Amino acid sequence: MSPHRFRVAVCGGGVGGLVCAVALSRYHDIHIDVYEAASAFTEMGAGIGVWPRAWKVLCSLGLADELAKIAVVPPTDIPQIAFHFRKGDQPEGVNFYTLSTPGGLLAFHRADFHGVLLRHLGRHCGKHTSKRLVSYTQSRSRDPSIRLDFQDGSSATCDVLIGADGVKSAARACLVEELAAVARAEGRHQDAQKVLAAGPPKWSGTVAYRALFPSQTLRQRLPSHRVLENPMLYLGKNSEITVYPIQRGVMINLAAFRARYDLEYTTFKGPWVQDVPPSEVLHDFDDWEPEVRMLLQSAERVNRWAIHTTLPLPSFVSGKVALLGDSAHAMMPYQGAGAGQAIEDAFILATVLGDRRTTQSTIGRALRVYDSIRRPFALRIQEASRENGILYTLNYPGLTFDRPACAQPGSEDAEKLKEIRTRIRMNWEWAWKTTLDGDVSRALRLLDDPAYGS
Ligand SMILES: Cc1cc2nc3c(=O)[nH]c(=O)nc-3n(C[C@H](O)[C@H](O)[C@H](O)COP(=O)(O)OP(=O)(O)OC[C@H]3O[C@@H](n4cnc5c(N)ncnc54)[C@H](O)[C@@H]3O)c2cc1C
Repeated sequence: MSPHRFRVAVCGGGVGGLVCAVALSRYHDIHIDVYEAASAFTEMGAGIGVWPRAWKVLCSLGLADELAKIAVVPPTDIPQIAFHFRKGDQPEGVNFYTLSTPGGLLAFHRADFHGVLLRHLGRHCGKHTSKRLVSYTQSRSRDPSIRLDFQDGSSATCDVLIGADGVKSAARACLVEELAAVARAEGRHQDAQKVLAAGPPKWSGTVAYRALFPSQTLRQRLPSHRVLENPMLYLGKNSEITVYPIQRGVMINLAAFRARYDLEYTTFKGPWVQDVPPSEVLHDFDDWEPEVRMLLQSAERVNRWAIHTTLPLPSFVSGKVALLGDSAHAMMPYQGAGAGQAIEDAFILATVLGDRRTTQSTIGRALRVYDSIRRPFALRIQEASRENGILYTLNYPGLTFDRPACAQPGSEDAEKLKEIRTRIRMNWEWAWKTTLDGDVSRALRLLDDPAYGS
């Protein structure tokens, strides 16, 4: 007899997939296989920020000490400046808000962050690279019930599949077909159409120019540049720049966003990620204040990301398959929350699967509990992230600017900026004012609820 209760396949070794595998590694009677499409477990992109809510999850997985060593500023509960907000699309910018939160935003270099996760995978966790999932099939009668087919022609089996394969998810594409087939079989033809339409990722109308450069380059241009010491958000009409030091201040991580809301949910023509000449981004921001242009001039290598998101699904689960992270709910990066939400998904999913009450025959119930807890929350954060973007890019109805803002207290502009900051904070405070603890307890309680079936 197998010493394992069941075998879990995690497709995708990004943040969500690896956190899930680390969280599952705590249960020695669950066998885990992580299948990653790339030829190595690496992370694209530069910096990643983690809010207190997700940080507490990482701590409960025993990652605190190692992650603390690679954080820009050591973690603390003391209020820290998360970001300074400045309207920068005018000859001289206007500081209008300092967002201070307990612990601030913990910033990491993505590759370092990934390295820590990889070191914490259990011994009973198989790691497979160059394994791009193409499709899965699940059957009620076969055991193990799920077959995975990979691009290289190989296949594998498992009892539970976790689709953690990012915004272009192959697992999601199969899962929506299954949800549509169920809807059709029940005569809900419109629902079937709707779920199929929600399957593929959609272009948000926004591109992000991402760059990582040595702080020294910026220091040479302007030794007192505020970004050397401060995480900043520069806001402007249709654009926004998020920029902060990482690697203990040695490097600067920058993402400059350019939004075209009239193109939201259309198809992006061209590669989603592409190296572009730094002059392209400079050109887009040439009427911004000098300190912003100085930042952009410091970037020697820039890549442009067409930001894609997903539409809400009626379920993140089908049978013994569950989606997590971007494959379930890719969101705009305006709350720095996508990876944090993937971490939360991973933790809840591992908790319900790892619980002793979950066996081969009750996997479906555990996944339905996961869906009922995580889907409403993650979709709410997806919407809040989109709304923050509209506020940042000065597109929120009634809160737009058609000329440089004047910061004179009591002026119409100052009132608008005040309203913008109030809305941003209200949308965002879940990330540092709440914890996942209540949801974990609720998930464990629901495992005994007959409404979730077997
Ligand atoms: C500009 C920008 C800035 C951001 N900043 C932040 C931030 O500060 N904080 C934050 O929380 N979030 C941030 N995000 C969002 C965050 O990067 C994502 O939400 C997060 O990486 C999602 O994790 P994931 O594991 O679901 O997917 P991914 O990280 O995309 O990982 C998916 C993995 O699956 C692999 N894969 C893909 N297809 C297959 C397949 N068919 N088979 C097998 N493997 C496959 C990929 O190679 C990859 O390793 C940002 C996003 C952007 C664009």
